[in-house]
Amino acid sequence: MSDLTITGVLHSARQRLLITTLWQLALVAVAYWIAARLSLNLALVNGQVTPIWPPTGIALVAILVFGRRAAISIFLAALAVNLPLGPSPPGAAVIAAGNTLAPLAAAELLKMVGFHLALDRLRDAAAIIGLGALAGMSISASIGSAVLTLAGEVPLDHYWTTWAVWWTGDAMGVLLVAPFLLSLLPNSQAASLTPRRALELTVLLIGIGLVTFVLFQTRLRLEYLVFPLIMVAAWRFRLQGAAPAALVASGVAVVSAVNGTGPFATESVVEKMITLQGFNICVTLTSFVLASFVATRARRDEALQLYASATTASEVKSSFLNMAAHELRTPITVLAGYLSMLADGSLGPAPAKWSKTVDILIAKTTELDRIAEDLLDAARLESSATTATRKAVDLRNIVEEAAARAAPRAELLKGKITTRLAAGPVLVLADAAQLGRVLDNLINNGLSYSERIPELKLGCALEGGRAVVRVEDNGVGIPEAAQERIFESFYRNTDPVVTKVPGVGLGLYISRQIAEQHGATLVVERSTPGGGTTFALSMPLASAID
Ligand code: ADP
Repeated sequence: MSDLTITGVLHSARQRLLITTLWQLALVAVAYWIAARLSLNLALVNGQVTPIWPPTGIALVAILVFGRRAAISIFLAALAVNLPLGPSPPGAAVIAAGNTLAPLAAAELLKMVGFHLALDRLRDAAAIIGLGALAGMSISASIGSAVLTLAGEVPLDHYWTTWAVWWTGDAMGVLLVAPFLLSLLPNSQAASLTPRRALELTVLLIGIGLVTFVLFQTRLRLEYLVFPLIMVAAWRFRLQGAAPAALVASGVAVVSAVNGTGPFATESVVEKMITLQGFNICVTLTSFVLASFVATRARRDEALQLYASATTASEVKSSFLNMAAHELRTPITVLAGYLSMLADGSLGPAPAKWSKTVDILIAKTTELDRIAEDLLDAARLESSATTATRKAVDLRNIVEEAAARAAPRAELLKGKITTRLAAGPVLVLADAAQLGRVLDNLINNGLSYSERIPELKLGCALEGGRAVVRVEDNGVGIPEAAQERIFESFYRNTDPVVTKVPGVGLGLYISRQIAEQHGATLVVERSTPGGGTTFALSMPLASAID
């Protein structure tokens, strides 16, 4: 693609993004304005005191989903709503600023606590109630009531009553509308409704609406009898059921309060507010807490199931590998025996041109034997069948012995292994053979995974009351993302320097298991691509264990 074409594509992509953003902002403003105009019809008194203010829910979700830029739409729409109502144009502007600031702050608070838009954990339900609704909306209530008081529209001694009415209205808007809008977001985790389940939910919602309506027609104060139905919706459909159920029940309750039916017939405005908001708060708490509880439980069950099947799969794999390695062991030993007899002439003189082939066969058979040994070790470690015999040993000796074992191979590669050991004894409680095995793995890897002539430095020191062995190489290094994964069974890096060396990816897995059985840690302490790696084995001193 030429530079010109790329610029053209970028330009049209930017234009598309701009148009989408403008559409989103316009949608938020219109939705806010319509919701505000409609809710003013639900005012309990003087066309002003509304028990629910749904625009707050719309504003909060808009900021959570579209980002802070949605604040512009919210401010403009709030200004349009408040100008005809507000005490004066500047007063209306300040109230609109409060209406914008409240959802902005609420969204920030929710982001700070890692709120999930799917509302699928108990703490999400707690966060939207505590931070989103109760804390966040105190901002708009404080600013709004202050403006009305300063403008003389509300007497000073009515400040707190106005504040309370404003606050509950805004908080209810968040509690009822935000979860409903969030439940409509395309959410990959929420199971999409089959037509049958959609029908079940619709019937349930109609039932909730009708039952709430009927209960609010009588003065017997039976409105709470609708709760079992709301709980069924939350239980069966989680947020997808809980959110619309709460909205329907509260919506019917608000309309009943406005029309003054049932328990509201004889109540004063303050009493109506208390009855209504008491009912609304119980509806939201019951539905969301139950929905998120069910979601949390379902997730835990899923994780348990996954864990159980992974454990079974891993056990099956281990026992298969154990069996395969056992079966391979005998033929490999026979093969190795005959090959060494061929090589040393016990079977009579072999033709000269066989000698290279026999050498290769012997090398490959040794490799096979090592792989079978690794498989058996891994299976033994997994079934905890090792009976490590531990004694107090000087770790310096184990390091020196490992260096001596690796010396011939290092020499063959023209490499160098140097040791730097503590001056005094480094006593640890260990199975010397097993620790030797860990060091052999680390040293062999250091010798193998290098493009340069290998240079290894082995260290053994006392550090902070622990014994620490370091194996430092000048090899290819390990990418950061793989530095923990290399300790998983069968993990091998895809670096060509690694793949050309035969291996199955069990060495470090076995080494870490052995380390952990000794109460030790084995980690990649430092590694840079092309610059080598340092592994550190850190274990408690024998004196610390006694
Ligand atoms: P194997 O050596 O059989 O592959 P290991 O468990 O010993 O199994 O090592 C796992 C992987 O970790 C190796 O395949 C390699 O990618 C990486 N690795 C281990 N040690 C080193 C090292 N010293 N330098 C670079 N990569 C290493």
